[in-house]
Amino acid sequence: MVDPERQCQMSARDDQRAATVRQRLAELLAEPEGMLPGSLTVRLLRCGKQNCACKADPPDLHGPYVQWGYSRGRRRITRWLSAEQLERYRPQVKRARRFRELVGVLDDAEIRRVERAEGWGT
Ligand SMILES: [Zn+2]
Repeated sequence: MVDPERQCQMSARDDQRAATVRQRLAELLAEPEGMLPGSLTVRLLRCGKQNCACKADPPDLHGPYVQWGYSRGRRRITRWLSAEQLERYRPQVKRARRFRELVGVLDDAEIRRVERAEGWGT
C-alpha cells in the first residue's frame, strides 16, 4: 500500500509535469514555420562513372550531401536538400522531433494519472 501523502505529492508532480509538457506542445504547434517530420542524414556517394575518384582505393566519395527522409508504415519519402533548404528545414525537423518526444512524455504522465485515479497497477 502506498502512503497516501506520498501518492498525493507524486500526483501533484505528475500534474505539474503534464501541464508543462502540454504548454510546450501548444507552443510548438503555434510555431508559424511549422514542423517537418522525419530526419536528416549526411551521405557520401559513389557515382556511375567507371574511372572516377569515388572508385579509387581508398575512395574519394562525392558529397557530403544531405538527405531528408520520412517513413510511416510502408511509405518512405526521401529528398536531397540544398544548403539553403537545409538551413530552412533543420529547425523544423528539430521541432518535429521535440514534439514527438514530448508526446511520449505526456503519454507517460497521463497513463500514471489514470492508473492512480483508477487504482490500477502497483
Ligand atoms: Zn564518382
